[in-house]
Amino acid sequence: MSSLVPPHGGRLLPLLISGDARHRALSEAKTLPRISLSSREVSDLIMLAMGAFSPLEGFMGKGDYQRVVKEMRLTNDLLWPVPITLSASKEEADRIKEGERIVLVNSGGDEVMASMLVQEKYSYDKRAEALQVFGTDDEQHPGVKKIYEQGEVYLGGTVEVFSEGGYSERFPEFAQPAETRAIFTDKGWTTIAAFQTRNPMHRSHEYLTKIALEVCDGLFIHPIVGKLKSGDVPAEVRMECYKVLLDNYYPEDRVVLKVYPMEMRYAGPREAVLHAIIRQNFGCSHLIVGRDHAGVGNYYGPFDAQRIFDELSPGDLHIQPLKVDSTFWCRKCDSMASAKTCPHADEDRLLISGTKLREMLTKGERPPEQFSRKEVVDILVKYYQSDAGSPQ
Ligand SMILES: [Zn+2]
Repeated sequence: MSSLVPPHGGRLLPLLISGDARHRALSEAKTLPRISLSSREVSDLIMLAMGAFSPLEGFMGKGDYQRVVKEMRLTNDLLWPVPITLSASKEEADRIKEGERIVLVNSGGDEVMASMLVQEKYSYDKRAEALQVFGTDDEQHPGVKKIYEQGEVYLGGTVEVFSEGGYSERFPEFAQPAETRAIFTDKGWTTIAAFQTRNPMHRSHEYLTKIALEVCDGLFIHPIVGKLKSGDVPAEVRMECYKVLLDNYYPEDRVVLKVYPMEMRYAGPREAVLHAIIRQNFGCSHLIVGRDHAGVGNYYGPFDAQRIFDELSPGDLHIQPLKVDSTFWCRKCDSMASAKTCPHADEDRLLISGTKLREMLTKGERPPEQFSRKEVVDILVKYYQSDAGSPQ
């Protein structure tokens, strides 16, 4: 018997098919109408394939979509904060009948990724979705921009997925919820704190995760490796940073590092809830939720992503947020600290903004060791001084 938290909705529902079923479905697929997926839709499809979006069985139909946008709930009342949708242009949608099976190909169009039974076609209001889910209709917001760019019809229906998009070849740390649950159970862990990250980890992140490690059986470092916005550090470079940090500064038997393929939507509070549901599916009891979790620019207040958890009903989630404030090195405390523990002023604190840090690293300047471990800085300086890391 597992002593881990249950999956969201009660059971894991991976939608990847294999063996004979996959062969049969792939040969049927040859003659079916095709829809090309955006990179975000590909990443959502792989999340469905893995069971990371359990208990969803495909892209949302109109009932679920409308209720999720307005009330953060599926039609069966289960908490779900962000629509998981498949868009098509009007012309594409006109060629497909409800009740028909179609094939989903990746954005390059060279890989058949899944088949889908189209149960519903429906139009939707892009601006209303943006306002409700992102709290803004500003097209400068990277998540909102993607909604404005997509087709004007949504296709809802169940999917059978044939491919995980090459993630397991690209990342040896790619793991499905069923796999991490088995790892945690093997280790005898009950309480596991997940750390969501899309950045290299500096001392402040190390400190956050170690606060969690003081009170939980294990730590699950779980970087997002789907496409990010421009200016973010690529996943392969970040993986090097995580590994060198874990190798040198964490007890080996208390940390698990795995990746997942979602794309950031930067939906702030609502995305924080999605991150929690996903980590519950992976078997975690806690999610570290810091300042401006899953935010971008100035669209959300620093603690909005923590507060949203207070508005949920008891029983909505089995995972709990570990709410932490921003952390930093304080010269007067002479240690890592947070706004909750340090009484000193900003000028005593070692604070370097993301923009400033990028500028320093691009020039080959090293931030102080109290800000970032030397092993991590070595990797970042090398990246920012390479062609790949130079600003466009
Ligand atoms: Zn202090």
